[in-house]
Amino acid sequence: MNKPMKSPDTSLDAVLSNLGLTADMLNGGTLAVHSPVDGRKMADLTEHTGDDMTGIIAASNTAFKAWRKVPAPQRGELVRLLGEELRNAKDDLGALVSWEAGKILSEGLGEVQEMIDICDFAVGLSRQLYGLTIASERPGHRMMETWHPMGPAGVITAFNFPVAPWAWNAALALVCGDPVIWKPSEKTPLTALASSNIFDRAVARFGEAPAGLLQVVIGRADLGEALAASPDVPIISATGSTRMGRAVGPKVAERFGRCILELGGNNAMIVAPSADLDMAVRAITFSAVGTAGQRCTTLRRLIVHTSIKDELVAKLEAAYAGLPIGSPLDAGTLVGPLIDSDAGAGMQKALDAAKDQGGTIIGGGAADGAPEGGVYVCPAIAVMPGQTEIVRQETFAPILYVMGYQTLDQAIEMQNDVPQGLSSCIFTLNIREAETFVSDVGSDCGIANVNIGPSGAEIGGAFGGEKETGGGRESGSDAWRGYMRRQTNTVNYSAELPLAQGVKFDI
Ligand code: NAD
Repeated sequence: MNKPMKSPDTSLDAVLSNLGLTADMLNGGTLAVHSPVDGRKMADLTEHTGDDMTGIIAASNTAFKAWRKVPAPQRGELVRLLGEELRNAKDDLGALVSWEAGKILSEGLGEVQEMIDICDFAVGLSRQLYGLTIASERPGHRMMETWHPMGPAGVITAFNFPVAPWAWNAALALVCGDPVIWKPSEKTPLTALASSNIFDRAVARFGEAPAGLLQVVIGRADLGEALAASPDVPIISATGSTRMGRAVGPKVAERFGRCILELGGNNAMIVAPSADLDMAVRAITFSAVGTAGQRCTTLRRLIVHTSIKDELVAKLEAAYAGLPIGSPLDAGTLVGPLIDSDAGAGMQKALDAAKDQGGTIIGGGAADGAPEGGVYVCPAIAVMPGQTEIVRQETFAPILYVMGYQTLDQAIEMQNDVPQGLSSCIFTLNIREAETFVSDVGSDCGIANVNIGPSGAEIGGAFGGEKETGGGRESGSDAWRGYMRRQTNTVNYSAELPLAQGVKFDI
């Protein structure tokens, strides 16, 4: 008989110890890190200062000079080893994501799986950094495009996906020949330090990696500002709020750096009369309440055909009533805590505004029986008279605004009529409606799905959104191009020197 598998120990002490986060690394500093699970203090980390940034950026540039000379497939080998080490550490890092960001264990593990997946993708990519060969108009000439490493990539990340977006950036940047300086959220630095330890394990097995290939900077927004301002950090990939993007974007533009911005979303689902409602209810519930409504791709707006609106709201109300809310580390929990009390206050403020703007609120408020010290809320549904001002804002909490529509054109117009442009979807069994939604006149978002929710992307596709979401693309497809510089080469193998466009300049 098979012996039952022992569940991994998810206690904080075990997880920190397995990830090599020792007491001397975690204590004595000024950055207090609290767990959203029960409010316990997990660390007082030593913060980097603005002055430290000069040395860190210089070390990254020194690493660049060595790393760019390593052939890309060998750079891929380091990323392959990183993927292996992440597989070994998946249970611990997944649990630490739960402790630090508050997402349920299955989502914490899913986030680490996403890191592993992007490593696998990047390993293959390391042999496919292709350029084009282009026909020259001149005889005896050949034109081509080549791609070259660019220099240090500054990666600024948000609390709600504390590790996967780093991996999307780092796995690609590393195979592209770029060192990484990582500025994690000040709310989730422990998962960053743990990831850095896992990276070190891969480096130790790899052997010849230059020092400073990955550096993690611990601190607040000013460290991100220093990265954004430095002309010695040619790439800034910043994930976070639109407010942050508004500060970072112009700073990087001012020095002609390259910016990859992954900012706020306000994602919608259109539910058409032909939709499979039971499937829609499952997709809505996961997308709207998963990660306690704290995903950039969280479903926030439900645009439902008026003929099925009441029926759908009733089904959702029933589904919401049975949601297990509690510690994200307990088996069976589906809704964990908000990140902190500010997030709880923000949710209540938005619900008050929704009510003022004519909404009827179902749910909301503090959840009974949840662990002390955390901010646990009941997800809310707000049935709105239309797309009022509050609906057009991203509130980072589990609030689902529901609105009715009569025609598909009207629904698409509502879907697009918000400042953000990250993710969107339609539930319909009507092929005309589905194709219209993903056509030139359909959704204006970076992600547009049919019969699946807006949340939970795979790494194979390029990830990102338009308008106030920032326009950046990360992860799969050809997002790697954001981490390299493109060069057009014309090689003359003839004995003549003809000029393009027939220009004559004889001397
Ligand atoms: P945030 O903007 O408060 O912080 C994100 C990061 O930016 C942190 O590391 C922070 O220290 C840094 N930062 C803040 N101000 C800065 C400045 N002026 N200059 C440089 N760095 C600065 O965001 P958050 O609360 O951690 O995360 C939630 C937000 O992130 C939501 O709006 C969510 O939609 C968005 N988000 C977007 C994506 C995406 O891929 N589009 C993914 C995850 C989260």
